[in-house]
Amino acid sequence: MNDILPGEVETWQFLESEAHRIFQLYGFAEVRVPVVEKTELFCRSIGETTDIVEKEMYTFSDRSDNSLTLRPEGTAPVMRAFIEHKLHTLDPLSRLYYMGPMFRYERPQKGRYRQFHQIGVEAIGVDDPMMDAQILAMLDHYFEAVDIRNVELHINSLGCKQCRPRYRETLTGYLESRLRSLCADCQRRYLTNPLRVLDCKVPACQEATVDAPSVLDLLCDDCDTHFRQLQAHLHKLGIVFTINARMVRGLDYYTKTTFEMVTNQLGSQNAVAAGGRYDGLIQDLGGPALPGIGFAMGVERLVLMKGDQRIAPPRPQVFLAALGDAATDEAFALMTRLQRLGLRAEMAFAGKSLKAQMRRAGKLGARFVLILGDEELASGQAQLRDMDDGSQTPIALEGIGQALAARCLAGPATGSR
Ligand code: ATP
Ligand code: MG
Repeated sequence: MNDILPGEVETWQFLESEAHRIFQLYGFAEVRVPVVEKTELFCRSIGETTDIVEKEMYTFSDRSDNSLTLRPEGTAPVMRAFIEHKLHTLDPLSRLYYMGPMFRYERPQKGRYRQFHQIGVEAIGVDDPMMDAQILAMLDHYFEAVDIRNVELHINSLGCKQCRPRYRETLTGYLESRLRSLCADCQRRYLTNPLRVLDCKVPACQEATVDAPSVLDLLCDDCDTHFRQLQAHLHKLGIVFTINARMVRGLDYYTKTTFEMVTNQLGSQNAVAAGGRYDGLIQDLGGPALPGIGFAMGVERLVLMKGDQRIAPPRPQVFLAALGDAATDEAFALMTRLQRLGLRAEMAFAGKSLKAQMRRAGKLGARFVLILGDEELASGQAQLRDMDDGSQTPIALEGIGQALAARCLAGPATGSR
């Protein structure tokens, strides 16, 4: 579990504010749900035989012996809230997004942590593949907006209640003769959740299953048409994708469309965003029979991908350098006024030489420095140094707040230190 410190947090804030901005363009509204839920919510939705439920959940009993779990993902809590508040009665199409911490007891490594953060979206009420394409267009737009380029969109279809059992059976038959080549986890998965074998990260399991039957060959007509229409929409929108029939995803609730945004930059933590359709989930959880589709992005992985192009902290617009007690008092009052006017204003809070104050102004990357001494107080004029071009000009103390605000807000608001 990580602390996110100044210097890095600016990148987080940027990724979050772009999510608010972009998702709202597409009609999504934010929903905030608790970080704990009843354990059974996750068992029922994610699936008893998934990695998450089998070995990754932070589960505990509260003082009344209720079994609670720190949320390992966002879809189940959002669906719980959707059902509880009957959101479908307000609008036949609910478009929701969320952001916040998730918890999984995993082996920590680069891009994989025990508390991590997701930004996710859910669209409930429409099963038309146009909605799948809309979601993928929005995801694509987001990656463009935050300037993360080195990613590829992979899509697949996992079929539905009708055709998936047929595939599962075919795959089980195929795996039977290769059992001895599989890792211990997969030998177990072969019986409980054979699709997950395709997703195993152990190279031997990958090799043993290179020619596994494709789920796409066994889709029913409805799922096949849905998947073809999605592809046609994506082509029309100019969204580039790869079909990856081995992508099965780690949660049981997915139906039809599934997808991942993958990168080769993060080792085996190659998925930066992932999602899919879950047409039976809401009903399974006791709600109305409504289809849904969504995705979640891993914020830590997005931050890692931003790498060198992290967002710099904002530079002060004006640094007040004061000499002498009276001028320091005056500078302090003026700084506070400027902050009220909406400027990032700074000063050295402890009495220091002008040279030391100028050094600090330089270190903070201040745009302007206002120099104020007893003489300036007496004459009613301070000196304003433009730190970008080094020029220095007198400025009247009368009405200085508005004058500085006008100058600072005209200049560039951000820059690097
Ligand atoms: P992975 O295959 O990497 O384990 P996953 O299939 O378990 O991912 P999802 O449950 O689909 O992941 O979650 C969506 C996204 O959340 C992932 O694509 C990833 O970016 C991020 N994510 C998942 N688990 C973690 C984690 N432990 N630490 C950091 N990010 C994570
Ligand atoms: Mg995982």
